[in-house]
Amino acid sequence: MRTLLLVANWKMHKGVQEAVAYTRALLTQASDFKDTEVVIAPSFTAIAAVAEAARATRFGVSAQNVAADPEGAFTGEVSASMIKDAGATSVIIGHSERRRMYGETDTIVNRKLRAARAVGLRPIVCIGETLDEREGGRTFSVIDRQITGGLDGFTADDVAGFVMAYEPVWAIGTGRTATTAEAGAVHEHIRGRLRQGFGAAASERCRILYGGSVRADIIQGLMALPDVDGALVGGNSLDVGTFSEIVRRARR
Ligand code: PEP
Repeated sequence: MRTLLLVANWKMHKGVQEAVAYTRALLTQASDFKDTEVVIAPSFTAIAAVAEAARATRFGVSAQNVAADPEGAFTGEVSASMIKDAGATSVIIGHSERRRMYGETDTIVNRKLRAARAVGLRPIVCIGETLDEREGGRTFSVIDRQITGGLDGFTADDVAGFVMAYEPVWAIGTGRTATTAEAGAVHEHIRGRLRQGFGAAASERCRILYGGSVRADIIQGLMALPDVDGALVGGNSLDVGTFSEIVRRARR
């Protein structure tokens, strides 16, 4: 049985003090979270402080992005080893905001995955279709292209340890959530595609999160789907009470 994973993607919100206060407040709720794994993804500047606040707890810390190159003259970039050094153990790669606003292609996603693997950071790989692609009947072909391009060259062992996040672009930050039927169909497709590419064992171990306007009142329906192993939560992770309630209600 795959452990549920709930990730709080704060995007470009919260300075160091606010991030630490949130982490401490979330820790006071942790006894209600049962076996659910919880990961906080602050901005780069707050990673070290959140990691320190969460040290020796079950909470993990993730970066929201990583440089594709290990080191060098790349002004403004943050490398995988720097992220690890700051105390994060995961990194979100290929978020649709980065694909759309910063031109990240599947090739770049693949390079960033390699950079993360090289230092042992666990990638949370975001994939998902736009509204145009869904309405044009291209959801599965887009997902297939993102998986094939993004995971090119990785082994079954690598993929078993990766986290995939299905985030329909039309559901991110819009308040519109995929129905359980829509999410269930795509998650099943992703698992099948992983099985084809990397074998049954890797596909069964790889966790696939859902992301896109997740709220406490819909989390149970989503988590009841056999191929949904948790959630990537953006806007509703910013308030600690709202996010705690989502984690508390997340059950198989
Ligand atoms: C996200 O940023 O990954 C996300 C799912 O955002 P939201 O929950 O706000 O739709």
